[in-house]
Amino acid sequence: MENSVKVFTQITDFLDYLGDGLALEKDLAAGLDGHPKFPFLCSKHYADLIKKAECPMALLRQVLPITEENKCVAGFMDDPVGDLPAGKCENIIQKYDGRALVVSTATCGIRCRFCFRRNYPFQNIKEAAQQVSSWLDEHTDVWEVILSGGDPLMLGPGEFRDLIEAIAAHPSVTTLRIHTRLPVVRPDLSLRHLELLQHLAGRFNCVLVSHVNHPDELDQESATFFVQLRFSGWTLLNQSVLLRGVNDCATTLEALSRKLFAQGVLPYYLHQLDHANGVAHFEVDDNSARELVAKIRTKLPGYLVPKLVREIAGEKSKTPV
Ligand SMILES: *Cc1c(COP(=O)(O)O)cnc(C)c1O
Ligand code: SF4
Repeated sequence: MENSVKVFTQITDFLDYLGDGLALEKDLAAGLDGHPKFPFLCSKHYADLIKKAECPMALLRQVLPITEENKCVAGFMDDPVGDLPAGKCENIIQKYDGRALVVSTATCGIRCRFCFRRNYPFQNIKEAAQQVSSWLDEHTDVWEVILSGGDPLMLGPGEFRDLIEAIAAHPSVTTLRIHTRLPVVRPDLSLRHLELLQHLAGRFNCVLVSHVNHPDELDQESATFFVQLRFSGWTLLNQSVLLRGVNDCATTLEALSRKLFAQGVLPYYLHQLDHANGVAHFEVDDNSARELVAKIRTKLPGYLVPKLVREIAGEKSKTPV
């Protein structure tokens, strides 16, 4: 494997790279889908995390396509959280008062099999900065702009700067939030933006909400990124998705909260799975979810217990479970 390879797009290359050290659990190996509808993508960094992980299966399940994804399950659909009716223009979704979400790019550092936007009809957005700017001109009640995606840190430095400058030109926007999984899947690409991000704390209240599901996803490289942002004045929060076979265990959730905190990040949300087509096998039922959170509450300080929520299409906020 050459050093220049940063991502795997072929499942066979990826499995070769993981090598024999990793005995695939029988159910997963038997159910492997070599030609998934939602294409396979895994970064080399994430593959290395799998190799080093205490629970490799917990990470592998998040990226390896299995045939179960092709099952039609009642109640699971293409737009489970009502993104499309809430779309305001090609790249803005507004569901909640004062906050608007920018779908800044369609690309991600890996493809998570449980992704709620796995079936989202991403537009290839040209002149995104211009569009966002015109929209904000008309919506001066919006005080927080959330960059989401896809993964906003996947944008090239130029595009990223243009988008942020367009937002910064609107004094009505006082808070900038970035939703990203990149610090744990492509720390190299995250670090490209570090200098710009550090400067932003002088203009906005800056919030980074990382997406980390398992303590084995955090390493020295994520720590480097988080710690530098924190010292430049960013508030760092994390959201996780509760996933069967990945983090549906109190010991794992407790370890995740503690490891996040050690890297300067506070747990924010623990999401019940959004019912996108193809993700039903990850579901944890509400009662088990509540029991898990009750259990970690007895082990952790209150500030390390995430809020268990679900997104219900049409509601004006996330809904506590
Ligand atoms: C989840 C979400 C937000 C953020 O909600 P918070 O509760 O503030 O974290 C904002 N806009 C959209 C469209 C969302 O889905
Ligand atoms: S990083 Fe986020 S948006 Fe991208 S595939 Fe994973 S869950 Fe979906």
